[in-house]
Amino acid sequence: MFKGILIEKDDAGYRAAVKEIDESQLPEGNVTVRVSHSTLNYKDGLAITGKGPVVRKFPMVPGIDLVGVVEESTHPEYKAGDAVVLNGWGVGEAHWGGLAQKARLNGDWLVPLPSTFSPQQAMAIGTAGYTAMLCVLALEKHGVRPADGEIVVTGAAGGVGSVAVAILAKLGYTVAAVTGRPHDADYLKSLGAAEVLDRSLFASPGKPLGKERWAGAVDVVGSHVLANVCATTKYRGVVTACGLAAGMDFPATVAPFILRGVTLAGIDSVMCPRADRLTAWQRLATDLDISKLGTISREVGLDEAIPLAASLLKGEVRGRVVVDVN
Ligand code: NDP
Repeated sequence: MFKGILIEKDDAGYRAAVKEIDESQLPEGNVTVRVSHSTLNYKDGLAITGKGPVVRKFPMVPGIDLVGVVEESTHPEYKAGDAVVLNGWGVGEAHWGGLAQKARLNGDWLVPLPSTFSPQQAMAIGTAGYTAMLCVLALEKHGVRPADGEIVVTGAAGGVGSVAVAILAKLGYTVAAVTGRPHDADYLKSLGAAEVLDRSLFASPGKPLGKERWAGAVDVVGSHVLANVCATTKYRGVVTACGLAAGMDFPATVAPFILRGVTLAGIDSVMCPRADRLTAWQRLATDLDISKLGTISREVGLDEAIPLAASLLKGEVRGRVVVDVN
């Protein structure tokens, strides 16, 4: 038996609780991992509360990321004792995830834990931080350099936003952090933000084009915020879009794209190919100041993760939440 959060949906309703789970219930897979830590991402918040259609079969163990040690493996690249990290691939949605003491997975989904990080540090980064790195890699790929001008990061006090601010600042970019929590301005400045802007400046319907300001953007929010970021991006600037914290909609015009040559780059971490994952984790090892992870993250147990899921969706959780599942 092992302990984990189990989400059930039946005539009695949708519910999540910490349960004792029999190992024989684990799904199929060629690698069994003794999980040490998982985390709470926005998607885990949706899964645990049932506020979004994230879970695709029941019962489900949530947790879209995990770190742990291989217990058993028939996969050629992994053997017992190897430390591994998992992000995405539908884990915690369609396949049992990381918010439990054990997971059985497809070895192709795993990446080795980079030696630079402890298990806790890897999860302080987690899927949110790895996605932030994918956004930064996309800005670089499209040619955005620190000398080009300011980068705006929305939802900056959340998980993706916090890590994005820290990485961009370390790489020498000038970062403007957009937040609905102005009282967290000192936190965002400690991560390297040069300026903190109130979310209300971006949250209402705006003009098709505004004053050109941003050389690049990391947007985790979507909706009017993303539309206004695109409308105020400089000629040939690049906007990376990875989230929908304010909504799935994108109430914009094509004006920034056809009149200013703005690029909108979509970022997906879930099905991202292995080579790009390895690059992202390598770059996190060099381009994220590890000492900032203590400020960005806090650690909770499995029991606390359930009530925190609802707070996270309300935008009340700052930075990253690491879950010690043991
Ligand atoms: P968090 O909840 O940690 O952060 C989201 C932040 O968005 C909040 O902290 C808040 O920032 C801001 N926010 C929340 N609600 C609103 C709102 N109504 N209007 C404007 N801003 C809002 O989530 P994560 O960082 O884990 O994830 C952020 C987004 O990125 C989510 O939508 C998630 O689904 C997505 N995501 C996508 C991935 C991908 O592969 N594409 C991977 C990982 C995440 P503040 O308080 O500073 O305003």
